[in-house]
Amino acid sequence: MGARPSGPARSKSTNSASRRTRNRGQPTTESSRLRTRRSATDHEALPAQQVQALATRSPGRDPVSVRPHQRQVWQLTRRQRSTRRPRRIVDQIVMKGGATMTTAAQQSILSSLRQLIPARKCTFDEVLRVTEMQAGKLVTAIRERDPRMEGIQIHHLAELPRMRIAYEALPVSGMSHWNGREWVITICASDSPARQRFTALHEYAHIVSHGATERLFTGTKHLDAQTQAERVADYFAACALMPRRDLKRAWVSGLQSIEVLADHFGVSQAAITVRLDQTGIARERDPEPAVNRSRCARPVRTPRNRPQEFEIRTRRRCV
Ligand SMILES: [Zn+2]
Repeated sequence: MGARPSGPARSKSTNSASRRTRNRGQPTTESSRLRTRRSATDHEALPAQQVQALATRSPGRDPVSVRPHQRQVWQLTRRQRSTRRPRRIVDQIVMKGGATMTTAAQQSILSSLRQLIPARKCTFDEVLRVTEMQAGKLVTAIRERDPRMEGIQIHHLAELPRMRIAYEALPVSGMSHWNGREWVITICASDSPARQRFTALHEYAHIVSHGATERLFTGTKHLDAQTQAERVADYFAACALMPRRDLKRAWVSGLQSIEVLADHFGVSQAAITVRLDQTGIARERDPEPAVNRSRCARPVRTPRNRPQEFEIRTRRRCV
């Protein structure tokens, strides 16, 4: 039941498009190797029974690492895109509501968020500041292209290039991985719409920080790197769904009930409570966990001939 981005309609770049088609028909040595690797790593969104979840954390594993050949595929793909897809590509995708988004513009969203990450190791406070900037940039980018949107919805993410949203019966709320061709965000089908939306943004945050986790999440004596990554992903989702300015505006206008605010922003009451505390607007009682299980599972190194494996951490408080 996953939503795929609409297929881009060909337009002015017919020549470059046909060149790309010819290149695909007669692959170079490099693209031939790429194709071989892709065929070996194509893992579609996994049915729940195929998810090889690891019940406990294995020390020393990189929580967001993927197999070396997967990372290589990503690098090759990125290099190919930068050399073969000129910026003037104006393929248009019609979004819900009639707004249009160019593929070039969509591609720039993920890369522009990643460009905000400093090229050095960061303190956790710095990471939080960068994360809020990234979330604000994502909101602005989507709002510019879909002015009638009222908060980021899952379909906005599904319409991004190389991005697919799938729904499965999962032991966690969500997971995400690169399957060699696109990012797949898998969401627990039985969760409430509000939680699914928060989870989608949480997983998107993992995708944004992919490749930079070692300098972003260095861990401290009290907070290991993986916990930092999860908290930052939650923070990204909260900032994207409840922008500080919008929340203050709603509070000042008189929406000061947790229940009303949660309904207004389309999030859980636990999420709005935490966000009110984060922004300093109101100090509310620390909420009880809304769901008694982990927010997400992270992909781990998996032998090439097996379905992608994910790691499930022990439960922590989630909103
Ligand atoms: Zn997570």
